[in-house]
Amino acid sequence: MTDSATDTRLRSPLVIAIDGPSGSGKSSVSKAVARSLSLAYLDTGAMYRAATVWVTEQGVTTEDGAAVAEAVRRMPLSMRLDPVDPSIALGDRDVAAEIRSTEVSARVSSVATNLEVRAELRRRQREIIDGERTLGGFSGGRGVVAEGRDITTVVAPDADVRILLTASEESRLARRSLEVHGTADAAALAATRDQVVRRDADDSTVTQFTVAADGVVTLDSSELDFDQTVQAALRIVDDHARRRAVTDQ
Ligand code: C5P
Repeated sequence: MTDSATDTRLRSPLVIAIDGPSGSGKSSVSKAVARSLSLAYLDTGAMYRAATVWVTEQGVTTEDGAAVAEAVRRMPLSMRLDPVDPSIALGDRDVAAEIRSTEVSARVSSVATNLEVRAELRRRQREIIDGERTLGGFSGGRGVVAEGRDITTVVAPDADVRILLTASEESRLARRSLEVHGTADAAALAATRDQVVRRDADDSTVTQFTVAADGVVTLDSSELDFDQTVQAALRIVDDHARRRAVTDQ
């Protein structure tokens, strides 16, 4: 329903921004939306995670904010924006698996709360998003789904479609626990708590991703399964496409 209808209505590049807390399912949902609409997929959390790996390898301590920022400005990061087969590398080294480690998840907020690091990554993210609006990008100018914590508000407040994907703390914990430990029993839930609740609390000191900003559509996935969430996101995009078609007439 949504994809083909959206497809015929959208002739100019489409930028979709999706923010949300950990465990809201934003990475899988964003990837599925990008696949469905043949757009590029930008995972900005992966950039902060790669920065954490890089800074650690450079022997810089996170307490030395200026040195961390300087290291991140030199970071040789490259990403493939294919939602079917995304990749992320530091120089020639694929770091896709490494950036998902428990150590990186535990440390990433300490790098992401450095404001100079944010400015540098924001600059790179903006460059990528703007690149996808032109024929030179991965999508050939069709556009991009960019997801993270501050995409709807700071990186791309001008995006065509802006969604805040939320879910109750309980369902977010259960999802992340299943993903990381293969179960959502009491012990696994307790082990996951740091990765979800503490990390979001730390992240909230520099970004606002729990309440939708003006013009941002909230999509609550607590009671929805994965496919229903993707369909709901595609409907939001389709609504935008209908409005755009009406305005263009
Ligand atoms: O989405 P993901 O869990 O991979 O994000 C990892 C971390 O990157 C977050 O906990 C947050 O510290 C940081 N982040 C951010 N701004 C973004 C995306 C991610 O600060 N736009």
